[in-house]
Amino acid sequence: MSAKVVAGGNEKWEAVIGLEVHVQLATNSKAFSGSAVQYGASPNSLTDPTVLALPGALPVFNEEGLRLAMRLGLALGCTIAKHSRFARKHYFYPDQPAGYQISQYDEPICEGGFVPILEEGVRKNIALTRIHLENDAGKNNHVGPRSLVDLNRAGVTLCEVVSEPVLRSAREAADYMRSLRQIVRYLGVSEGDMEKGQLRCDANVSIRPRGEDTLGTRSELKNINSFKFVHQAIDHEIARQICVIESGERVVLETRLWDADAGISRSMRGKEEALDYRYFPDPDLPPLEVSDETIESIRSALPELPLDARERLMGLGLSADDAAQLSSECSMLEYYDATLAHAGDVKHAKLAANWICAELLGELKRLEKGIGESPLEPARLAGLLRLIADDTISGKIAKGILPKMLESQEEARDIVEREGLGQITDTGALEAVVDELLAKNPKQVQGYRGGNQKLLGFFVGQVMKATGGKAKPQVVNELLRAKLGAE
Ligand code: ADP
Ligand code: MG
Repeated sequence: MSAKVVAGGNEKWEAVIGLEVHVQLATNSKAFSGSAVQYGASPNSLTDPTVLALPGALPVFNEEGLRLAMRLGLALGCTIAKHSRFARKHYFYPDQPAGYQISQYDEPICEGGFVPILEEGVRKNIALTRIHLENDAGKNNHVGPRSLVDLNRAGVTLCEVVSEPVLRSAREAADYMRSLRQIVRYLGVSEGDMEKGQLRCDANVSIRPRGEDTLGTRSELKNINSFKFVHQAIDHEIARQICVIESGERVVLETRLWDADAGISRSMRGKEEALDYRYFPDPDLPPLEVSDETIESIRSALPELPLDARERLMGLGLSADDAAQLSSECSMLEYYDATLAHAGDVKHAKLAANWICAELLGELKRLEKGIGESPLEPARLAGLLRLIADDTISGKIAKGILPKMLESQEEARDIVEREGLGQITDTGALEAVVDELLAKNPKQVQGYRGGNQKLLGFFVGQVMKATGGKAKPQVVNELLRAKLGAE
């Protein structure tokens, strides 16, 4: 295969991508029964008559899943259906004992909406078709010639986020996945851990001649479980389709499986059409009805989303990198906002960002702690920042104080007082030090006055040494310039 793919196609062909992302919702028990949800439990220990689809077992919907799906839908600007319902989607697979999956078909819980991504720093909204609720299947584990079925995952609540076919490159698709993962984590609707299969992506890919509006025939890539593979699998598929079409053949509607080890996709089966699934409303489950009040109470409890936070922080004067880092996780943003609130003045916004991003995160990494577990609370960090801002201590001295604050419950000002670290800003006191130094170093004084301006640095260094680094550099510089230039 040799077709070259540059940013989603080539000069002649444009790629069209739509993603179906399954998000495992953070409910404690399964969607339609009371079995616990837990990763890594011993196989088939988390089952019950409903999960096993034993005759007579009836599903009862766990409404926590509905609340989480609505929270996600509202955050993404979807319209919430006040009336939606579950349907049976029939297909046979050993890891699905009922012979059908409970999903939503013609009446999903959410419609429309978008996932925001950043394209070279500019926000772009990727349109969604819908978000619907469904239950997960179990897992087939292939061990040598045998296949073992583990039903621990069967019945877990999922929501499927379906995008419109509007993504144009593998990179956009990966950015979309990253943004979606960040949002589900912010909202606490899912842990979003791809390695644990809590976020799984099927990518639908087609190509068409550039400038064409109609969609080409797509293939669907299953089994993509990392950001890297999203990128690789889609690029590979675009190149494969270009080769197929340019060699005079046609792309067939099919499901392909991404083989991450081999770096290729393989045809798995012809793609089912909706008709093959024989959808019909599940007679065991009542329709889902939600009131305006419920929708509004979920909407009003939404947190600020990562890209909005990023823009707000940049509005405070932070660099794009700092703003992105501080809005990358909810706990990070909360820490930053709390620090700034305690610092008591938004003009400390950049100072707080620098200290958290450049210093505190480094210290926490050394201690192997996340920002949420920081032994230094926002209020005490703000105390340190205030001392820097009002010139009580230099940044350099503050760097020495920070680790001490992480190891104790002490306030910055107590450490400064106890260790006598306050900056010397008193001109009179510094003048005496400067005079003594000039008297001791007549040669250098002469050199400076003879035109060697670099000797200023020598004197500044000497004053710093004499004062244990506590002299305020600005005052020292002014004094030295005045005295050395005087004769
Ligand atoms: P299913 O795959 O379950 O049969 P849909 O027909 O709703 O369901 O399509 C699912 C996904 O495929 C959506 O994300 C949609 O944007 C995408 N899609 C549909 N047609 C194309 C196409 N021609 N090229 C690329 N993506 C497509
Ligand atoms: Mg599909």
